[in-house]
Amino acid sequence: MKKFKIHGIFIIALIIQSLFQNLSFAQSSKEALVKAEEKQYKALKKISSVEYPGDSTIDVTYYKLDLKLQYSNHYLIGVVTVSAKCKSAELKTFFLDLQNPLNVDSVTSNGKQLAYTHSNAKLFITFDSTLNYGESFSVTVYYEGTPGSSGFGSFEFGSHDGYPAIWSLSEPYGASDWFPCKDTPADKADSSDVWVTCDSNLIAASNGLLMQVIDNGNGTKTYKWHNSYPISQYLISIAVSNYIQHTNYYKYAAADSMPIMYFVYPEDDSLAMDGISKVPNMIKIFSERYGQYPFLREKYGEAQFGWGGGMEHQTCTSLGSFDEDLEAHELAHQWFGDKVTCADWNDIWLNEGFATYSEAVYFEATQGKGVYNQMISNDMKNAKAAKGSIYLTNISDVNNIFDYDRSYAKGAVVLHMLRGIVGDSTFFKILRTYNSAPGLAYGVATTQDFEKIAEEVFGSSLSYFFNEWIYGEGIPTYNVDWNFESLGNNLYKILLDVNQTTGFNPTFFTMPIEIQVTTEAGDTTLYIFNNAQSQQFPLTVKNKPLYITFDPNNLILKNLSLLDSIDFTKPTYFSLDQNYPNPFNPTTKISYSIAVQEKGYIPVKLVVYDLLGRQVAVLVNKKQSAGNYTVTFPPENNLNEFASGVYIYSLTAGNYKSSKKMILIK
Ligand SMILES: [Zn+2]
Repeated sequence: MKKFKIHGIFIIALIIQSLFQNLSFAQSSKEALVKAEEKQYKALKKISSVEYPGDSTIDVTYYKLDLKLQYSNHYLIGVVTVSAKCKSAELKTFFLDLQNPLNVDSVTSNGKQLAYTHSNAKLFITFDSTLNYGESFSVTVYYEGTPGSSGFGSFEFGSHDGYPAIWSLSEPYGASDWFPCKDTPADKADSSDVWVTCDSNLIAASNGLLMQVIDNGNGTKTYKWHNSYPISQYLISIAVSNYIQHTNYYKYAAADSMPIMYFVYPEDDSLAMDGISKVPNMIKIFSERYGQYPFLREKYGEAQFGWGGGMEHQTCTSLGSFDEDLEAHELAHQWFGDKVTCADWNDIWLNEGFATYSEAVYFEATQGKGVYNQMISNDMKNAKAAKGSIYLTNISDVNNIFDYDRSYAKGAVVLHMLRGIVGDSTFFKILRTYNSAPGLAYGVATTQDFEKIAEEVFGSSLSYFFNEWIYGEGIPTYNVDWNFESLGNNLYKILLDVNQTTGFNPTFFTMPIEIQVTTEAGDTTLYIFNNAQSQQFPLTVKNKPLYITFDPNNLILKNLSLLDSIDFTKPTYFSLDQNYPNPFNPTTKISYSIAVQEKGYIPVKLVVYDLLGRQVAVLVNKKQSAGNYTVTFPPENNLNEFASGVYIYSLTAGNYKSSKKMILIK
């Protein structure tokens, strides 16, 4: 799911924080601090056993939803069959979750009426005789009413452009607003059917394959969708409107392809075309990195709905608009969220952190590392504002679960950092192994499951990393200082001091860190393993060192404080980056770097020319010191002055000169 940024409430996190702060300050030695941290992690893990909705004495195997939707009076008449297995030694009575606004008319099993009671959002059903452990059963619930709507709008009778639109968005606790179910993501059904009867001018989209459309001859049609893959309750969906339909194909082999179906509001049809054209390549890019698209026997789909963001309904994503980044995010969820689902909402980063990171993975594949780095740097800005641990301790508040800074941005940055530690090929092997692991693939996973696989593939423990970044909170603040001495023979010894400001959980971060030393003869990259709060690293380099850059590839989410007079964060080389986005409309960003120099300020000029060589804009014309700069083109007050076409932007900084092309499409 992806939505507008909403900040959550952190009361529990703050209470835990103050408890642990007292605990930390009471200890004196470093070892005691480390032990206190271990206790904190254990305490956090223990808090996770929150009671869910859902009857733990049953194991759901199948859902069939047969829904009649009456738009005129916002009414739903449902016949829902739930098949399950008995998970207790003896079962006489069990319950399904079903919210109270819906009225149950009867419950049957094998055509026989069963006794039931419905109150406090629980439908208790009693069998005539006792079932034994492992025994299968099937019940059918007849119910009707106007569904309530919780969370981000779990069931809506909405509209667009004067036409009806009916849709569901159940995550996290809203499935029981519109059908009886076991309302926990941890219990997947093996398959599902969704039948929707609606006014004949409307089209109903749902999970899996469209098996049949029946014209009932009374002004209504029935759409019968069948899904043959395991599915969590919150990924079952409907999206109904007067859609225009499009299909294109993901060709996964020379002679084989899978349909991708699009359901678009007529007024947005031309606007959607660009996004639609990109999806086949998106599926290819993710399949190459994460393993084959998980629902290849069926389809992928995108259905427009009236909520501003997107929701990764299995094989039938719901979208507010067909924006490329939103499409990439929701598509990536088919691997991370739908095929492997977080076992509980405490582990929501396994869905949202992975999908957010996948946006950068997609743009890295299509537009290059520069765009990837820019997206990660944006994620880092949000991640710095994250409060509390990524592993959630409070899952009762929907906005806390879907807190953008923490579950999305910081979750994504954690994957970026893991990639930095294990390297590109091991990183993607970890993701593929996790996504195809027996028991996790088409099932559910916890953070421990992911950590175990990451460690197995990497071949070494990563507990420090997960404890700090998933169960811990905050980010490291590094205070770095260095000096050097000559050893003779053009060899130099550098003493690099790395000190971290004291945090409370963890007290400090253990991380491998890249150090780039710029010498008179060029750059050398060295690696240190920083596993103490205060540490000195002796490094030997050839040629006289000039500058040191701490974490030059921005692989660590951090604050950097400089004790030395040399600014480690400033670039050691000039560059002019490709503008982003490109092509663009209405604006684009141009970034450049001015290298550290002896004289401090140098004259910098950034000018834009048209293809005839005429100067059309001067974006920068002043003296600047070393640093990374970004400007916007066209300038805010000149948006309408520029016609579609190719433009050249050209940077002159001291003796450095570079030019690049950009394309404005209006
Ligand atoms: Zn998402």
